[in-house]
Amino acid sequence: MGDAVTITTTTSTTTTTTTATTITTGGNGNKRISHTQKTRVGVPQWVRVMIDIMQFQDCKIHLNTKDHKLDRFCIDCVGSFCSQSCSDHQGHEHVKIRRYLLHEVINRPDFQKYFDCSGIQGYQTNKNKVLFLKSRKDNQQQQNNKDRRCNICNQNLLDASYCSIQCKVF
Ligand SMILES: [Zn+2]
Ligand SMILES: [Zn+2]
Ligand SMILES: [Zn+2]
Repeated sequence: MGDAVTITTTTSTTTTTTTATTITTGGNGNKRISHTQKTRVGVPQWVRVMIDIMQFQDCKIHLNTKDHKLDRFCIDCVGSFCSQSCSDHQGHEHVKIRRYLLHEVINRPDFQKYFDCSGIQGYQTNKNKVLFLKSRKDNQQQQNNKDRRCNICNQNLLDASYCSIQCKVF
């Protein structure tokens, strides 16, 4: 392919067309720096948003109703919602967030549908296998004899490379 530059010269006999070539001359001009945000291939943006915002907060709109924890995340709307708003998200893809050991977790099978969970430490709750959304590196943990640690935050692990979804998409 190479760097072939095609210059098209239009010769017009009847009309004189002045093609103004806009050259950005210095100044504080438009420096187009491409986004250097950490966008790792294969990590959907909504996954990052979900990790950022899901904190089991109260839904301010439905404070007076019974189930008003913002424990669902709509993939189509890229935002959280409570059970009272389910009708607003009918037909949308969404995932449910739970709490386990005071941290946000997601059922592994639910999340696996959208994202390759391999390498993320799973934990068995009563009946579900869950993944932590975020690193719990501040947590005091028991030492285990196998010295498995999270590749990112160094937390002790049982049999995986990442402690949480956050550390995998880091
Ligand atoms: Zn609500
Ligand atoms: Zn929605
Ligand atoms: Zn980690």
